[in-house]
Amino acid sequence: MTSTPTAGARPDEVRRHNRTALLRRLHVGGPCTRAALAIELGLNRSTIKALVDGLAESGVVSERVPRARSGAGRPSLLVLPEPLAAVVLAVDIRVEQVAIALVGLGGQLLGRDSWNLRGRAGEPAEIITRIIESTRLLAEELDVRMVAAGVSVPGVVRRGDGYVHEAPNLKWTDVPLGDRLTGAFGVPVRVGNDAEIAALAEHLRGAAKGSLDAVYVAADIGVGGGVISDGTTLRGTAGYVGELGHMVVNPDGRPCYCGSHGCWETEVGELALCRALDLPEHSPRGVVVAELRGLTATQITTTLGDFTRWLTMGLITIVNVFGPELVVLGDLFTALPPPLVAQVATTIAERSLVSRAIGGTRLVTSTMGTDAKLIGAAELAFESVLDTV
Ligand SMILES: [Zn+2]
Repeated sequence: MTSTPTAGARPDEVRRHNRTALLRRLHVGGPCTRAALAIELGLNRSTIKALVDGLAESGVVSERVPRARSGAGRPSLLVLPEPLAAVVLAVDIRVEQVAIALVGLGGQLLGRDSWNLRGRAGEPAEIITRIIESTRLLAEELDVRMVAAGVSVPGVVRRGDGYVHEAPNLKWTDVPLGDRLTGAFGVPVRVGNDAEIAALAEHLRGAAKGSLDAVYVAADIGVGGGVISDGTTLRGTAGYVGELGHMVVNPDGRPCYCGSHGCWETEVGELALCRALDLPEHSPRGVVVAELRGLTATQITTTLGDFTRWLTMGLITIVNVFGPELVVLGDLFTALPPPLVAQVATTIAERSLVSRAIGGTRLVTSTMGTDAKLIGAAELAFESVLDTV
């Protein structure tokens, strides 16, 4: 994630670059000794000492004796981030619920709030006002001041200013979300597509941690995906991320609001799963998950045969296009029966040229639960402030 300063950079630029790299390491990787920091960051001990001393003096990091001591002699102190040195707001806007959280440096969740939309998702002004009011209350209650905000939206978002062009499942069109929140909070606000944001969370803190090339795909009402390529989030023109949910897997399939037929989203999204399980569309999530968990091996094959076929076809294309070492299944996909996931993985291995070439793409389920988007939104916000803390 860090880049090397260019040759000929001024000493203050080099110091600033190293300071940000050290802070990013502590923020994402947690407490670490000065010696280990020197090795990991490729810096000498005296540079690390100067940086840590400076950050400790400003109250951004502290040092403590490790709880578990190893070996004899004086233990090495651990350097750790001070959560209150930089607090960001994370917002996860979903079709049925909005969640907010205040998150401290190091990723510590300081406090959270959430509320159901009860079918009122189509009213952006009302939702934005509630986000602003709830954030102020939460910040007051925790007695913290936030320095940036990150927002996850299930839609097509312009990264530069957080303008939501279209969020079909929320029924939002042309909503200047970034500007409204920046105006209200007076801090930098970054808005991103929900799948891209969840991919960022998985890459920094979840199943794809340490993986340079990974894809995250998730089903809610919509289906989305985020791509980590060579360690960074892949972004398209003007920051618009690719819409993996709208690749066509079944040309004879159901019509999609995007104008196409048989998009991945219409064939493997939550509504498709409800239909396959013979449940009413928009059944409560708990009911859908319970049905999935209760399926016998035979039922998995009979009831979810078509679903498995379209899921596999989409994933084979994704693996062939992006060549990931790892695919993380998120949100409702985490409730898929393990034998189904194993079968999909086997078919990908058999039918994807790229998977065979790289020795097999692993298919895993997310362990972050429904918090992935909230955690990712916080990381999006931290991206903009770690060099100024
Ligand atoms: Zn579509």
